[in-house]
Amino acid sequence: MAKRDYYEVLGVERGASDAELKKAYRRLAMKYHPDRNPDDEDAIEKFKEANEAYEVLTDGNKRAAYDQYGHAGVDPNMGGGQGGGFGGGADFSDIFGDVFGDIFGGGRGRGRSSVQRGSDLRYTLELDLEQAVRGDEVTIRIPTLEECETCDGSGAKKGSSPVTCTTCGGIGQVRMQQGFFSVQQTCPRCHGTGKMITDPCTDCHGQGRKEKQQTLSVKIPAGVDTGDRIRVSGKGEAGLNGGPPGDLYVVVSVREHKIFQRDGKNLFCEVPISITDAALGGELEVPTLDGRVKLKIPAGSQTDKLFRMRGKGVTPVRGGATGDLLCRVVVETPVNLTKRQRELLEELRETLQEEGSKQSPRANSWFEGVKKFFDDMKS
Ligand SMILES: [Zn+2]
Ligand SMILES: [Zn+2]
Repeated sequence: MAKRDYYEVLGVERGASDAELKKAYRRLAMKYHPDRNPDDEDAIEKFKEANEAYEVLTDGNKRAAYDQYGHAGVDPNMGGGQGGGFGGGADFSDIFGDVFGDIFGGGRGRGRSSVQRGSDLRYTLELDLEQAVRGDEVTIRIPTLEECETCDGSGAKKGSSPVTCTTCGGIGQVRMQQGFFSVQQTCPRCHGTGKMITDPCTDCHGQGRKEKQQTLSVKIPAGVDTGDRIRVSGKGEAGLNGGPPGDLYVVVSVREHKIFQRDGKNLFCEVPISITDAALGGELEVPTLDGRVKLKIPAGSQTDKLFRMRGKGVTPVRGGATGDLLCRVVVETPVNLTKRQRELLEELRETLQEEGSKQSPRANSWFEGVKKFFDDMKS
């Protein structure tokens, strides 16, 4: 096929200036752009021809070679002339496509294979402390995209099948005019798949996937804590075009507990005790996750004293020794006293005032400190 003269292609004089070339090229590019002339082979040829002519004539060296030797001067396929010319079938945008493709969002996912793995899903699962510590099996309902059963994920109505996209000819990419350059972009019609659905599946409206409430049973291993993730393989969204499904990540969030606070593998709780138990010592019943246990309080226990119950905490999900339960006692001042109780306490007060230094060492040293403070001020 004989090539037309480049000046003739652009419709300009041999001595045309760059501005004239640009103007002529722009007019032709707009007229023959593949997006405006889908399926028009003649237009595509004319578009390529204009690109090639413009590329050569705006390059000083190539234009000089062309002026002297004609097509042979710039086309290595024709032999002779100057090397490093411009390949016959190549067009302008192929040269810049890689550079501009990324900038303008094209280029990636190029080609017709657009098999895609489905997205991962994240589900926040609230658990009681007991469930988290002991483990459980819970049923959750999640909205997810599943492959449409009616069309087996193709998106096309039963009996029909997707056809080659007419906008991009099945390539999944189109050339767009960006300013003065022609760049590649993902085909807006088929979104890069190269296929077009003329008769969409009525069930999924051509999406190939449908939103569905999925009911899943999830095994919660014993010892999980807030922030832990449990992966349920293959239970994310369905893939695209036959791609594998994504995974489901169940993220644990442990609810606040009325009695226990958790810190890693240890549990904490606060236990109020009476002044008599605190003073005389005694045995208390304290709660653990496994039921009540007895806790011996020695005589003279003060508020904030911590009692450690070994092995009554949490066994970590990743293994290791079971933690402890730490009970913090808080001495409670009795209220709403009966007459008799008042009398007993009055009596107690008197005896304490007589011999206070022994029974209340803390108060004693505190008062001494205060006395010294005022004495120092005076001197
Ligand atoms: Zn369908
Ligand atoms: Zn397309």
